[in-house]
Amino acid sequence: MEIKNESHNKLVQQITHCFPLYFICIHCNYHLHKQCAEAPLSLPNHPLHPQHSDVGFFLRERPRSFDWKCLDELPTKIDHLTHRLHPLILNRGDSDGLCNLCQKQHSGPFYGCSLCQFKINVECAWPRSIVEDKSRHQHPFSMLWRQGSFICDACDTEGNYISYICLKCCIIVHKKCTSLPRIIKFSRHDHCIFHKYFLQTQYLTRQDCMICFNEVKLDRGNYSCGKPGCNYVVHVNCVLEDDELYKVIEEEKQCEELYEKSMQSSIIRFIEMNEARKATTIQHFSHQHCLVLADKMEEEIDRKCDECMLSISTLFYYCLECPFFLHKTCAELPRIKQHWFRQGNAILLFKGFLECNFCDQRCSGFFYYIGGWEMCLRCAKVADIMKCEGHQHFLFIDFKYREKCNGCGKRCSNGAFRCGKCRFALDFGCLTLPHSTLHKIDEHKLKLTYDDDKEQIYCDICERQRDPSLWYYSCSICDTSAHPECVLRQFPFVNDGVTFPSYYHNHHHDLKFFRKVEGYLECFHCGKLCQEEILKCEESTCDNIIHCECSD
Ligand SMILES: [Zn+2]
Ligand SMILES: [Zn+2]
Ligand SMILES: [Zn+2]
Ligand SMILES: [Zn+2]
Ligand SMILES: [Zn+2]
Ligand SMILES: [Zn+2]
Ligand SMILES: [Zn+2]
Ligand SMILES: [Zn+2]
Repeated sequence: MEIKNESHNKLVQQITHCFPLYFICIHCNYHLHKQCAEAPLSLPNHPLHPQHSDVGFFLRERPRSFDWKCLDELPTKIDHLTHRLHPLILNRGDSDGLCNLCQKQHSGPFYGCSLCQFKINVECAWPRSIVEDKSRHQHPFSMLWRQGSFICDACDTEGNYISYICLKCCIIVHKKCTSLPRIIKFSRHDHCIFHKYFLQTQYLTRQDCMICFNEVKLDRGNYSCGKPGCNYVVHVNCVLEDDELYKVIEEEKQCEELYEKSMQSSIIRFIEMNEARKATTIQHFSHQHCLVLADKMEEEIDRKCDECMLSISTLFYYCLECPFFLHKTCAELPRIKQHWFRQGNAILLFKGFLECNFCDQRCSGFFYYIGGWEMCLRCAKVADIMKCEGHQHFLFIDFKYREKCNGCGKRCSNGAFRCGKCRFALDFGCLTLPHSTLHKIDEHKLKLTYDDDKEQIYCDICERQRDPSLWYYSCSICDTSAHPECVLRQFPFVNDGVTFPSYYHNHHHDLKFFRKVEGYLECFHCGKLCQEEILKCEESTCDNIIHCECSD
């Protein structure tokens, strides 16, 4: 029943003829013929299609089709080592099916056993017997057929039937793991990380994967940081899961360069320094006047930082010529940086009014633009692994999490920060709530509070019931408590006077947002009187207001 070496090689050749030389993505099964990969992205014209030659032709992907002529040259029935009981029959395969060898969905012809529902895609039936790529592993790998499963030394997960072994290193790996990148830069870690088949350690400690928070077996393959004192380690499959989160580094010396290039400061110029060499006057890219450092507000007003839209209490820069304030920490945020959310650059921008794609809050502050996503600064400051006051353990980001948030009780549609030790998760919205805030219901600042031991509880603002397991704002002196959305209202992070985009209302002029208005004005939509959170038309012919709630 064994396929002799010679005939195996002949079949490999035949398959190579049907599937000629191609470029393959090392992370998935995507491949392109060499010729196709090198084709130009567009052609100005083509003689075979003159009628549209003025428009040009653009390279697009066409649904994959098999070269059926090749099929005639393949044996119609084979004995295959992975299925010793019955012969396998060639089948044209018009729909997608799971290939039992590579465990992936395939379209196109396959060899199958109808008795056992066993299927092998034609492309997978005769894998190359030797794989060699010195940039990935110093020795060649040889293929080994096995019945049943094995554990891959490179990624510590199970594989079936086909494995590749390196006799010099005594390792057995998946086909895909023969070409794992040796070094990658992962967006959630500042340093480059290296693939190792095992990690030596002097301690008897358990190390958790910094992505999924399950244990990493140190005597198995993983990616780890090479910097002394940095214990960052992750599972191979966790770190390579999303190719937007990492970049392959070909040479070790590129690591340092990469780190230096990825930053650009927001402070254009230091104008004055004090004795402690702290910048006391700066020029910030976002403002035309100089900004001066201060550590206390002169008047007692609730002043917001124009970047993050949170209250300012200590250490901030302000403008002497116009009302513009920045937390010192916000002013120092880089204009271009690497953010853990994506491998590409995050760019600081200001558009007047945007909705954050992470916390869903409308905000008139600054945003980081990260590969098509807009992230407000409150969200951007949250680390991928973090601790917050409302929970005793570390929380880590899980973008696939869809269950309830323990802060607000809503389903997490944008993923959540969850605990690896217990059932607890928080969405971006709750994690970035202000720790304290003012509301006219109480003369003191209301504090964000995380648990309540009372049984029957009501919100002092809307007077409706409150779920004691969810977060709320409270004042312990006056025993006030209220829903976060009642305290903060709809637009806590929008500045007075900001113009709302027209998709928020259907008025024919620009409308400006005001948190409060003097006197009582009638809403031109519902006719009621209102003083809070309104949109105002300042055109002299209109001079109308509309409640924000009535605008959408
Ligand atoms: Zn593997
Ligand atoms: Zn993991
Ligand atoms: Zn700020
Ligand atoms: Zn946000
Ligand atoms: Zn929440
Ligand atoms: Zn309420
Ligand atoms: Zn109204
Ligand atoms: Zn108007």
